[in-house]
Amino acid sequence: MSTQAIQQNPFQSMLDRYNTAADILNLEPSLRHKLQQPEKQVLINFSVRLDNGEEKNFDGYRIIHSTTLGPSKGGIRYDTAVNLEEVKALAAWMTWKSAVTGIPFGGAKGGIVVDPKQHSKAELERITRAYTKALADIFGPDKDVPAPDMGTGPDEMGWLMDEFSLLHGKTIHAVVTGKHLNAGGSLGRTEATGRGVSIITLLALQKLGLYTGHSTVAVQGFGNVGLHTALFLHEAGLKIVAVSDINTALYNPAGINIPELILYYNLNNKSITGYPKTQSIEHDELLLLPVNVLIPAAKEDVITAANAPFIKANLIVEGANGPVSSDADAILKDKNITVVPDIVANAGGVTVSYFEWLQNSLNESWAIEQVNYRLNDILEQSFNEVYNTAAQYNATLRIAAYILAVKKVAQTYMINRSLNNSVSFKQN
Ligand code: GLU
Repeated sequence: MSTQAIQQNPFQSMLDRYNTAADILNLEPSLRHKLQQPEKQVLINFSVRLDNGEEKNFDGYRIIHSTTLGPSKGGIRYDTAVNLEEVKALAAWMTWKSAVTGIPFGGAKGGIVVDPKQHSKAELERITRAYTKALADIFGPDKDVPAPDMGTGPDEMGWLMDEFSLLHGKTIHAVVTGKHLNAGGSLGRTEATGRGVSIITLLALQKLGLYTGHSTVAVQGFGNVGLHTALFLHEAGLKIVAVSDINTALYNPAGINIPELILYYNLNNKSITGYPKTQSIEHDELLLLPVNVLIPAAKEDVITAANAPFIKANLIVEGANGPVSSDADAILKDKNITVVPDIVANAGGVTVSYFEWLQNSLNESWAIEQVNYRLNDILEQSFNEVYNTAAQYNATLRIAAYILAVKKVAQTYMINRSLNNSVSFKQN
């Protein structure tokens, strides 16, 4: 049997979990249908002049899944694999993520079909400004608030903020989060997702009685999320035995010195290739290592029914969005492998995005201690709530998180529409 991940449809994976939670909640059919579909799907095409004078065409998306709990919130992805089903899934996951974390936002996601590595900084700026112009009616601090995702960062967010502000004739910081500090960004936002993943990993290890202080960890992905997760877990004393990026997977059963690897990575054009003191392994092998914790922090659908039977980790913490496809859920459950789902595990990013949006709206700037303290507080509360709900319903952490999220959005939707008496919703 091949252990190669089979490409799944991430929106279907989202729906499978959603429907399981909706069944448990006995959600009325029309409400069930309403909450699973995006509220708005915007597909755009725009042209940008390249540095060589040629015009190039780009497809872009912005999908608003839900605005029930507040303005829609979610990142913008620059990647050649961006497609409608992926962005729809990512938008829905943002809705459930904000809901389960207790943040007053709905969910959205955007993307451009582009390989950012093939473009100069000036071209990326023009691409981002053109995308912003095309979606100027969609974005807004109280409507839809973008943020970074795969392939984007503070530069893109700054250009988006500037373009949006120019179009409105005034500075509007709160239209986007994940900006540079001097462009209205928040302290702690860059590392927030990785910090959150590490907080959740330590909490989960403790709850499961697996925490030894020397637990071994494999991290797939060395982008913003994987790098910071590995760093914070290393600082907490855990042994990071394997990491990978797009080209290379490195393994050292005695542990990798993560601060040293980060120095190497920064000097090596943001690549871990060639780092000594480790052996190179196959990418697929990293997922199957005999470790305590496996943290997929790269892309969706890397753990599927094809490789799930061979996973040896006790705990999987989803740093990426959707790294485990729904066809692997039952296999992992049977193997007694605990999975902390994306909508809980990687919520640190959107949580500090919320802090950034708050600071912008209130003209405040918070100290790093305040950011990290509040982040810790929110994530701990959310994890405990999910953990207790899982025990209450005898469900996995993933289904428990969906139960909490779907229930919250459904209840709010019914209250907003005065539907309390006309739809059935089993209370637990
Ligand atoms: N792209 C990140 C995520 O998937 C952050 C979204 C945000 O901060 O709005 O959670």
